[in-house]
Amino acid sequence: MKRKLVFATNNAHKLEELRAILGEGIEMLSLKDIGCEADIPETAATLEGNAALKAEYIYRHYGLDCFADDTGLEVEALGGAPGVYSARYAGGDGHDSEANMRRLLRELEGVENRKAQFRTVICLIEGGEERLFEGIVRGSITERKQGTSGFGYDPVFRPEGYDETFAEMGSVEKNRISHRARAVQRLVEYLTR
Ligand code: IMP
Repeated sequence: MKRKLVFATNNAHKLEELRAILGEGIEMLSLKDIGCEADIPETAATLEGNAALKAEYIYRHYGLDCFADDTGLEVEALGGAPGVYSARYAGGDGHDSEANMRRLLRELEGVENRKAQFRTVICLIEGGEERLFEGIVRGSITERKQGTSGFGYDPVFRPEGYDETFAEMGSVEKNRISHRARAVQRLVEYLTR
């Protein structure tokens, strides 16, 4: 029988990306596929904590092997903020990327140290055992928005060794070097060991 693994997300883009990488050997299910409509709490103070909360929720309620991810933008001059609060940096319900970038650029006005990194943490639960995988891409925050592709903070993040922001880069190149790609790569290496 094919091995089943739940990815605790309904993000179609993330699912498609993972299914393509994992291939035929593993059947990957989304939250929708297992009939989970719950708004799983993401109340931890760290990326590791949130990824674990999501994976543990699925394991507890459905008893299925699963994994969950959480990502944050960590800015050195801001002590690692917005970090785990990246989606809701500008307040409200979150996910207002324009407002989030406006706040970030305002906080960094006149600040010389623009160093930042995107960090993704994946928590896998397999047979009740928890394992963490991490992916990091280092870079810097630009003075203003550049480029229109991608999502989130892409227009203000320039990866180390590149002249372009994530939003100026094609998605193929971004997905090759991104934090998420690196974390996923480690997960896949482990799953296909
Ligand atoms: P999530 O954990 O993947 O939902 O990411 C949390 C937040 O981090 C998102 O709402 C975005 O603001 C930001 N983020 C995550 N990944 C990226 C990326 O690849 N580019 C830009 N922003 C990102």
